[in-house]
Amino acid sequence: QPATVGQAVIPLVNRLQDIMARLDGDAAAGVELPQVAAIGGQSSGKSSVLEALVGRDFLPRGPEICTRRPLVLQLVRHSAPEEWGEFLHAPGRRFDDFEHIKREIQSETDKEAGGNKGVSDKQIRLKIFSPNVIDITLVDLPGITRVPVGDQPSDIESRIRTMIMQYIKHPSCIILAVSPANADLANSDALQLARLGDPDGSRTIGVITKLDIMDRGTDARNFLLGNVIPLKLGYVGIVNRSQEDINFNRSIKDALAFEEKFFSTLPAYHGLSQCCGVPQLAKKLNNILLKHITDMLPGLKSRINAQLVAVAKEHAAYGDTAESTAGQGVKLLNILGKYCEAFSSTVEGKNKVSTDQ
Ligand code: GDP
Ligand code: MG
Repeated sequence: QPATVGQAVIPLVNRLQDIMARLDGDAAAGVELPQVAAIGGQSSGKSSVLEALVGRDFLPRGPEICTRRPLVLQLVRHSAPEEWGEFLHAPGRRFDDFEHIKREIQSETDKEAGGNKGVSDKQIRLKIFSPNVIDITLVDLPGITRVPVGDQPSDIESRIRTMIMQYIKHPSCIILAVSPANADLANSDALQLARLGDPDGSRTIGVITKLDIMDRGTDARNFLLGNVIPLKLGYVGIVNRSQEDINFNRSIKDALAFEEKFFSTLPAYHGLSQCCGVPQLAKKLNNILLKHITDMLPGLKSRINAQLVAVAKEHAAYGDTAESTAGQGVKLLNILGKYCEAFSSTVEGKNKVSTDQ
């Protein structure tokens, strides 16, 4: 089972959701996990990175423009062992075969954006039900292009930039700024846009793809160390599957094994294990989610307390002694707070938290 996004925080998120389920709507409002959006130039590897994080093949990928509508991918955790997908545009139709999901994305893209490379800002919404995920939303966005091709309008670049900004400007959006290692980081569309959407860099993770196809004699060590363009949350280097791997249907599992071997054999990446590989990216996201949850707790606590006071008053009036749901909420919240502390100390102990590399 590959390390997928959020896996390490599943128990934490489960407890949080237990608590939420006991609260009245108002107290629970605004307690949501952040969205994660992948941005970058066309063919930088955005779809490949998101797929690797989910651990399943289901996104159209390729050397030309593939992602032509925003794909909002809602991961939904359930307890059954099966995994399947369901589209908002086809409610009730269960996609058990991830190859069919890919085809459905392609045909829905053509439906809205035409068959000839057109781009549309109308979302495709897909839910993936799985026991291996947490309830989080990932967004796959069309890449930035400069020269209109096919049916693209002459202002394609500014249209795509505007579309991306709509997603990344939200203060709770975590930005995966994807740049290929075989181009100069100073020319990165992803980092340039991320800086516009997140000027203080507090929610941007740099993702450097294609480390395997850099010019011979060069490596990405300085990129990853933040020596070229510093980022508060740092960088993670990734080796995704090449087009040949995709054509030959190489599995994600094989790709992860290849990636691991790549980093362990190349001397340039020795000592950098914290910023190399898909599992490290998943870990970085987990740490950010954990921090997000921890930051939410005080506000949540005061809202539960307010509810508790209101309920207590009501109970006093009726002389009712049964324990209220809000009271149970407070108890659970205290447990969760302790759990968060314990959890973050184990996470920090294992891998230095990645906020200041
Ligand atoms: P997107 O347009 O940013 O979503 O990029 P895709 O994920 O569709 O990838 C574009 C092309 O680059 C595909 O042919 C991928 O196989 C290839 N690719 C992506 N990441 C890597 C990588 O790390 N190494 C290699 N060799 N190829 C990659
Ligand atoms: Mg794509």
